[in-house]
Amino acid sequence: MIKHNWTKEEILAIYNKPMMELLYEAASVHREHHNPNQVQVSTLLSIKTGGCPEDCGYCPQAARYHTDIEGNDLMSVPHVKAQALRAKASGSSRVCMGAAWRNVKDGEEFDQVLEMVRTINKLDMEVCCTLGMITENQAQRLAEAGLYAYNHNLDTSEDYYKDVISTRAYQDRLATIGNVRKTNVTVCSGGIIGMGEAVEDRAGMLVALASLSPQPESVPINALVPVEGTPMGEIEKVSIWEMIRMVATTRIVMPQTQVRLSAGRTEMSREGQAMCFFAGANSIFAGDKLLTTPNPDVNEDMKMFELLGLQPMKPFVKKAQPETVEAQYSQYKEQGEKPKWTRPGHTIDRNEAAKAKAKL
Ligand code: SF4
Repeated sequence: MIKHNWTKEEILAIYNKPMMELLYEAASVHREHHNPNQVQVSTLLSIKTGGCPEDCGYCPQAARYHTDIEGNDLMSVPHVKAQALRAKASGSSRVCMGAAWRNVKDGEEFDQVLEMVRTINKLDMEVCCTLGMITENQAQRLAEAGLYAYNHNLDTSEDYYKDVISTRAYQDRLATIGNVRKTNVTVCSGGIIGMGEAVEDRAGMLVALASLSPQPESVPINALVPVEGTPMGEIEKVSIWEMIRMVATTRIVMPQTQVRLSAGRTEMSREGQAMCFFAGANSIFAGDKLLTTPNPDVNEDMKMFELLGLQPMKPFVKKAQPETVEAQYSQYKEQGEKPKWTRPGHTIDRNEAAKAKAKL
């Protein structure tokens, strides 16, 4: 039976166990629920980069900070298809498309994304999108197009979230996840460690994720990649031991979830990543870039898999492939409701300082 009422104290007690006990417990839970030699491989594709109006303190795509990333308009469907075919040939079972938007707006660009979803689903790959906040109607339209998963990270605890982002509310993030849950699209939601949060905040985020019923089908655990020009550009990187503890704790409190080792892998040795797999990570992002930050080369990953005797998981192992409904047969296209997303607008000194510096 899955436990949903974890308390912060219970999770902290797990997180702080002696390392060998923590690893043993996490690896045991992992074996009970998953094949420990299979790892799901996702390719993350930035279909619209940069120029985002939000102020997420960790993100180089926020227009208000000064970073070196090259922005681009929404990719074309044939371009996305070519990238998906490349990803499939190199062992990925899922393509995750990310657009630097605050929320989805009905119209031409969303229609183009829906066409991308249809196209990739027809390649027999799992399709995931991360497009910002979405309404129930938009979630339904994505589901109809054949979307397998929607990513919307909680990022951190509700308490610490106020020190990271001021342009949208934690409750809106939960509402988006709730909208996805009303469809048959699976939920992908996790967070980032190393943003200056306390260990209690890591536990707080896990309380929030584990209390969702059902729990998210995948939970990405990212280590902050500090990017110069962002408010968090100077923060010291987290140690591999903190990643291992976070992965292991996530595995124990969400036993059936795919725990994804996400940003920050370039900083990890193979030994460190192997420990994360042992601790229950069973998914990675492949490809030389994670939206805008570096990621290990696909060949390097395949060499690591060979060394560890890991196999890439086939698509649709956990859930059947969704059917694609063509645009002209959609029953939702004329029913878009007006979203009521909030903008808390409080002051985060670190974010304001980075914005002021960018203007100079
Ligand atoms: S994390 Fe997403 S929403 Fe936040 S600034 Fe970056 S692209 Fe925009």
